Amino acid sequence: MVYSAELIRRKRDGERLDPDELGELVLAYARGEVPDYQMAAFCMAVYFRGLDGAETFALMDATIRSGETIELGRALGRKVVDKHSTGGVGDKTSLAVGPIVAACGVPFGKMSGRGLGHTGGTLDKLESIPGFRVELTTEEFVEQVREVGLAIIGQTADLVPADKLLYGLRDVTATVDNVSLIAASIMSKKIAAGADAIVLDVKVGDGAFMKTIEAARELAEMMLELGRHAGRELVCVLTDMDQPLGQAVGNALEIRETIATLRGAGPQDFTELVLSATAHLLALSDLDIDERTGRERAVAAIEGGSALDMYERWIAAQGGDPAEESLPVAPVVRDVLADRAGYVRSIGAVDVGMAALRLGAGRQTKEQSIDHAVGVRCLKKRGDAVAEGDVLAEVHAGTDESATQACAEVLAAYKLGEDAPPERPIVLETIA
Ligand code: URA
Repeated sequence: MVYSAELIRRKRDGERLDPDELGELVLAYARGEVPDYQMAAFCMAVYFRGLDGAETFALMDATIRSGETIELGRALGRKVVDKHSTGGVGDKTSLAVGPIVAACGVPFGKMSGRGLGHTGGTLDKLESIPGFRVELTTEEFVEQVREVGLAIIGQTADLVPADKLLYGLRDVTATVDNVSLIAASIMSKKIAAGADAIVLDVKVGDGAFMKTIEAARELAEMMLELGRHAGRELVCVLTDMDQPLGQAVGNALEIRETIATLRGAGPQDFTELVLSATAHLLALSDLDIDERTGRERAVAAIEGGSALDMYERWIAAQGGDPAEESLPVAPVVRDVLADRAGYVRSIGAVDVGMAALRLGAGRQTKEQSIDHAVGVRCLKKRGDAVAEGDVLAEVHAGTDESATQACAEVLAAYKLGEDAPPERPIVLETIA
């Protein structure tokens, strides 16, 4: 019997919980014995009071034990790789990395999540593709990684069901940005889905949950510890999220940008991150190559068309229509014009993420459905010179009213100045 109210009170008052009690609370929640309102209160108590290392491990461990685990590598007789991001605005990296890695001959199996707070989610992006199924059975998941070389799925009733529930709850209760909650959520999915080697992309900056490099390092170290404890090989890259990644923010818009990138015509910052993550994954794989060769193979897969072919096979294997023309299109598209000349000093990533969310690209309550067609395209990025009247961004909206509001929000997110800001690389640090 779990005394949920008692555990909430003790965490609220700053007490350390016994790992077994904490684990039992998570398992009881997954069994439907603890209501959402108590778990939301518990998450808020954790948000303010934090969890120590043993409590964080107990949270991750119970989340894994709430469902099955898969030994992907053993099932396939190959080393399987995976990548995960801590969440950002316009972050569609996995959607491009997966097909490139698989096109290079390395199996890629991944469990993703939906949008969280102001950030978008890989599953929501994939669901903008007509017919795409994010819920595969465990057997279908393993078979698809074996046959196609690539599968990306969501949490299910069988795989980390506790994370599925907690994730949806945290999204709408302002309890996402806590290092322990993020680390346990991400690593439970990574360990349950069974990849042997993982690249973790820890986002840093305005649009990330970790606003400073120090906070990002803390999260990276925590995830490395949890992953190594489970016998996984890991590399963490700390990457810039001070402005939206690439141009597109919003589900179908991001799928379009992914396809462009796989054709070799993606935005520069996004392409660089995709190549860097892919190079790390190929170096961790059983191909026995280094990162430099990994990067060369990734470039060759894009240039030779095998990455795009792999994308199409993968989407079709999960029931989706890979043709770009099948993606939904918003009825209203408006330009956001520069009201002065200058250089783009910064683009508030949270502001753009929230503008996209309010257009309908994300959820404000658990039950809300999303509009896959809407979003923002940031055509001018940090450091770009603009003349008065230039198009800074495009707003893709469902209605004229929502377009008007989003245009004002996006314009306010752009800060223009007299000089270009210092350059900031996309990859800030690597921790292996
Ligand atoms: N990604 C996840 O899977 N979980 C989090 O808590 C944050 C990002």
